[in-house]
Amino acid sequence: MSVATIADGGSPSIWNAAHDVDARRPRSRQTQLGASDTVCGRRAAYILHRVTPTDSPDKRAAILGTYIHDGLLESARTEYGWLVERSVQDDLIRGHVDVVQLDAATASALPARYRPAMPADVLTVEDVKTKSTYMWDRILRYGATTAELRQVHLYAGALFEAGFENIPGQRYLSRLGPLDIKRLRFRFINRDSGQEHIQEIDFDPQRAAEAQWWVERVREASDPEDMPRDFNGPGLDTICDYCPFRSKCWPGTAPGVPEQTQLIHDDADRAQALADYVKGHELVSEGDRIKKFARKKLDRSPAGIYGPNKLSWRGGNDEEKDDVEGMVDLHEVAGIPVPMKPDADRMAKNLKAAGLPVPRRKTGRKTPAVISIAPA
Ligand code: SF4
Repeated sequence: MSVATIADGGSPSIWNAAHDVDARRPRSRQTQLGASDTVCGRRAAYILHRVTPTDSPDKRAAILGTYIHDGLLESARTEYGWLVERSVQDDLIRGHVDVVQLDAATASALPARYRPAMPADVLTVEDVKTKSTYMWDRILRYGATTAELRQVHLYAGALFEAGFENIPGQRYLSRLGPLDIKRLRFRFINRDSGQEHIQEIDFDPQRAAEAQWWVERVREASDPEDMPRDFNGPGLDTICDYCPFRSKCWPGTAPGVPEQTQLIHDDADRAQALADYVKGHELVSEGDRIKKFARKKLDRSPAGIYGPNKLSWRGGNDEEKDDVEGMVDLHEVAGIPVPMKPDADRMAKNLKAAGLPVPRRKTGRKTPAVISIAPA
């Protein structure tokens, strides 16, 4: 995945500039673990061991997300007086919390000029996430991922135990000491439509401790390769397709051979993979059966909101297809020659009907391997 260096028309692509600026961001150069690096155990271990990234994935979508994120947070800071992008650090991680909203009691400990105009009802840590339309339904239905929950718990846990980092520009905040965080909030923004979706959960120190334990496990790994991969690899999980350590984590195989084949070492691995395949097949069959039964039942239900789901219908219009005779007439009227492409299907049928063999020739390509599994 490389970024075009020349835009259409021959001018240098503006993305070259954007990538260069992004590479100079402190976050891009930071080698210490940030909470946003904790999406995958293996990847976090590569970062902690200062392994040089092996890949340069296309970061255009991520850069757009950063622009939107920064613009929204800056507006929240100037208009609402929210604390944005404030630094936290504990023994395990270092990073910036998107938003902290102080409650009135905590804010009263600040010098008057730093108190927010509208304190929150409870001390809240907020994470702003931009998402594409492609991901939006999943966000509305399932909310934050496990990795996103881990990330916000790490930040909130650091504030809960240590408070804000004591650095210039926020010493008045660090003097507040450990903060009694009560609520976590995800604010999802659709990158394409601007739609906004909020998910709130209570802060749970136990879950923060679990997130910290996860980081400790990464830190204890003497070799990054000892850490399990949290994703299924290139072609299956987008996070791997865009991972800067993709080639290191999944060393190259022969062209056209999936990287995942390296996970099979012996017949025991094969037996397990076959069992997984059969199990997956059973789940799909059962899921399909449930879905088809529900679909039949819903056939006459009007659109509307029922419980947690919204029902709507598309289609039901008169179907149209190309009118070949009309096209021939128009070709003749316009003086355009009517294409006379041989019809291979029709010719094969004619030859079979006449008892003649259908000639075949090799294309130079291989047919895809189709797996077949039956009880042994
Ligand atoms: S390629 Fe995937 S599994 Fe490997 S480190 Fe990156 S995100 Fe993790």
